[in-house]
Amino acid sequence: IDFLDWDWKSNDKEDEIIARIDEAERKAKTIEETRKSLPIFAFREELLKAINEYQTIVIVGETGSGKTTQLPQYLCEAGYTKGGKKICCTQPRRVAAMSVAARVAEEMGVKLGYEVGYAIRFEDCTSDKTILKYMTDGTLLREFLSTPLLDDYSCLMIDEAHERTLHTDILFGLDIARVRPDLKLLISSATLDAQKFAEYFDAPIFNIPGKPYPVTVCYTKAPEANYISAAITTVMQLHISQKNGDILVFLTGQDEIEAVQESLQHTCRVLGSKIRELMVILATNIAETSITIDGVAFVIDPGFVKQNVYSPKTRMESLLVVPCSRASAVQRSGRAGRVGPGHCFRLYTQHAFHNELEDNTVPEIQRTNLGNVVLMLKSIGIHDVMRFEFMDPPHEQSLISALNDLYALGALNNNGELTKLGRRMAEFPLDPFLSKSVIWSEKYNCTEEVISIISMLTVQSSVFYRPKDKKFHADKARQNFTRPGGDHFTLLNVWEQWVDTNYSMNWCYENFVVYRSMSRARDVRDQLVGLCERAEVDLKSNPNPGDIVPVQKSIVSGFFMNAAKLSRFGESYQKAKYGEPGRTIHIHPSSSLFQVNPKWIVFYELVLTSKEYMRQVMEIKPEWLIEAAPYYYSQSELDNLEGKKKMPKNNKAAQKAAQS
Ligand code: ADP
Ligand code: MG
Repeated sequence: IDFLDWDWKSNDKEDEIIARIDEAERKAKTIEETRKSLPIFAFREELLKAINEYQTIVIVGETGSGKTTQLPQYLCEAGYTKGGKKICCTQPRRVAAMSVAARVAEEMGVKLGYEVGYAIRFEDCTSDKTILKYMTDGTLLREFLSTPLLDDYSCLMIDEAHERTLHTDILFGLDIARVRPDLKLLISSATLDAQKFAEYFDAPIFNIPGKPYPVTVCYTKAPEANYISAAITTVMQLHISQKNGDILVFLTGQDEIEAVQESLQHTCRVLGSKIRELMVILATNIAETSITIDGVAFVIDPGFVKQNVYSPKTRMESLLVVPCSRASAVQRSGRAGRVGPGHCFRLYTQHAFHNELEDNTVPEIQRTNLGNVVLMLKSIGIHDVMRFEFMDPPHEQSLISALNDLYALGALNNNGELTKLGRRMAEFPLDPFLSKSVIWSEKYNCTEEVISIISMLTVQSSVFYRPKDKKFHADKARQNFTRPGGDHFTLLNVWEQWVDTNYSMNWCYENFVVYRSMSRARDVRDQLVGLCERAEVDLKSNPNPGDIVPVQKSIVSGFFMNAAKLSRFGESYQKAKYGEPGRTIHIHPSSSLFQVNPKWIVFYELVLTSKEYMRQVMEIKPEWLIEAAPYYYSQSELDNLEGKKKMPKNNKAAQKAAQS
């Protein structure tokens, strides 16, 4: 790959510098010395003074300056946990919450889960002793649902505020500081664009100056057609031509990371002892600001990120790989300058950087389905969600769609108030489609099966393992799991067989099932069992496992909007109603119903690749749709889709719905 202003010949002088810094860094420092060497340490007293003085402050500092690991410790040391109160620090990502908590426990010399712990969705690693709690922003929001004053805490640090995740934005809007005058609120951000936070909270900005080393940025001379292979080539070119310094590559997800890892390992095996051992870190944008990796001298930035994109028009939510923002690209390059002068290789042209990237990432609240958000706000008691003070309000149409969906699900009544069902649904940290299915399954005596299916659906994209050299065996193993009714029952079968082997790792290995995903599904299921008890959902098992209809009806009760009918030509499907009725969609080739083509189906999700594909598909009967949602579907609509022209005679509910 050719980069502008870059010569692949090794630059010895710079290597020397990097080598020297590497050595200095690696000299073992005690934990105490490390803590004192961080940029934030010099501002410890000033920071504590500012926190004492103001209720809310905005803290800005370069990645690695010590915000996440040090600030909460300073608060503990300054006595903010006296009287049994806790300090909370939120993170947008699960992995960050876990790893930071582990690091801080080590620094404080305590066992993780005791004085320092973490809580993420479906996992709580804290105890009565915990005074410092790292958690995802979503988990804090859940806590807010059960204890609206968040009385347990003396300080909340909303970390990585610049990421503007959905949950962070909602936490902002709740204005917790107003109802808790004794609470300290710290908003911390890695970017300099803190003015907006300061204005929104009417709070002062505290700046922690960093001392990053210079990073030179190189662009490709021409656009790269395939950023994955360009990244691989650049890694090898760097590794072979440069003597020192680790390489950090920004990829968009686990699949890409695994593919690049495989390819690099293969190349290294082929080259054997001709090259040194390769040190390279493959990361998602978690390495942008959440986790600091020392020793990086080279950053490779393909310029992409995986992002949730929601279209209010089609009402479709999809995870897409899209160009990252300019702000992201700048953060990424900064990762190369922590221990010494570094280099960043952008796998796109300078022109693209200036003309094709957005300035900033659009806040998640403006690109998501808001069903869950609205349910949450309603259960907190915020009735008029249209007037909630979001930092950047979502599109009005998205809010209206969400209200309509919740109404169709039966979570809201005619006046837009939470129903009893809605209140129970809000107990679950699940998409409303899923929580409705769980609660409805009680009527059909099959909650055990439905929560197994839902737990498996949370890991559905990574249940089956398909190594390149064993595709045939893997596909055969997968086929053996297939059950009639659709993918939901195949997943249930995998789950039940695994339970029968007593959660065997070996069984997973032999059957090309990913053990890690199964373990995760097991954790999720354990949590769901607990939540069902809390929401008073009776945990019953289908008395007649041969009859799958009760399970199907339970799933339909939540997923009736995701119904589709086989088109007349028998290859593709048409959406029944949700979003754009009649829109053509396809069964994903990995589905057990691919080419089986039942007349009516519901699907779990739509993914957009070369076509719009439905993943995790289940066969249904159209009359179940009306049974599940009489105010959403009318008989005449379904008849129209079936090609029948007759109007319903005696279906009042359907007629009413059709009129409205
Ligand atoms: P910030 O939140 O300002 O980005 P952090 O508090 O995360 O900074 O990191 C401060 C320092 O702690 C960094 O230099 C980093 O190297 C170190 N650190 C953080 N996590 C770990 C860990 N798990 N192991 C070793 N060092 C760590
Ligand atoms: Mg941090």
